[in-house]
Amino acid sequence: MNQRMISIIIVGARGRMGTALIREVMDSEDLTLGACVDRSGGPGIGQDAGRLAGRPDLGITVTDELKPRRGSVVVDFSLPKAFENNVSACIEHGIPLVVGTTGLSEDDDRLLIEAATRIPIVYAANFSVGVTLLLQLAGVAAAALGPGWEAELFELHHRFKKDSPSGTALRIGQAVAEATGRKFSDVAVTDRSTLGRSRSPEDIGVFGMRGGDSVGEHTLMFLGEGERIELTHRAGDRAIFARGALRAARWAAAQPPGLYDMFDVLGLGQTPNPE
Ligand code: NAD
Repeated sequence: MNQRMISIIIVGARGRMGTALIREVMDSEDLTLGACVDRSGGPGIGQDAGRLAGRPDLGITVTDELKPRRGSVVVDFSLPKAFENNVSACIEHGIPLVVGTTGLSEDDDRLLIEAATRIPIVYAANFSVGVTLLLQLAGVAAAALGPGWEAELFELHHRFKKDSPSGTALRIGQAVAEATGRKFSDVAVTDRSTLGRSRSPEDIGVFGMRGGDSVGEHTLMFLGEGERIELTHRAGDRAIFARGALRAARWAAAQPPGLYDMFDVLGLGQTPNPE
């Protein structure tokens, strides 16, 4: 193995994200697949990782035990209940961890902070490089434009998505609010039908549309007198999250212990919305 290759260990390997990660690692020139882990007793155990991802056999069998090895980075897109075990294994072996699993508990958050004093951890609820940049641009634009520009945003997702507006849309709205000294929960408007008033200049409208198979679209508008700015991100494929997570893994491999996010990975400094 090339000395500069980074070995990636995927937790949640049989899932939608896990298989996307396997494909991205297989297609990369500087990453190698170290191991694949999934739920004990689950249907993925004992299967070949390449075959799981719809590719030729790789000779790497999915196991139910995470055994990080030196020189690897663990990339976890599984379930919150697996989190504690994954973190402990990474700490024990001093291995960087990239966490994409969402829905972590407050206890998990505390564990994350504690563990990050010992190993580098990158955690992001959205690993898309484009969405991370959109969050940054939203704050920069809102601060630069100042009063007189009204912010409205809408998003579109596939028919199966349960929450509305999306977590990402709310984070974009929050970035706009924070950049302009507003508290997002005070100014967010997600339904005008019951409002009984016209638009307040302070409002930040955030609306969800559902239908079809869209992986996710977010458009933020700044509406001024006689002009309008629109910032749009369109996700065409779940692979964007896998690519972002692997970019984070490459970056984490060279970092000291600490808790990082995609803003750090992209060199954008302070996250505009730390939640
Ligand atoms: P999925 O249900 O398709 O896959 C989850 C996989 O984890 C399954 O194969 C399951 O068997 C496995 N798993 C369950 N318990 C486990 C355990 N104890 N140990 C190891 N593996 C275990 O889900 P998905 O769509 O791939 O998403 C996985 C997670 O990633 C979710 O939390 C999702 O919200 C999150 N996600 C995050 C981002 C991001 O950018 N941060 C993007 C997409 C999805």
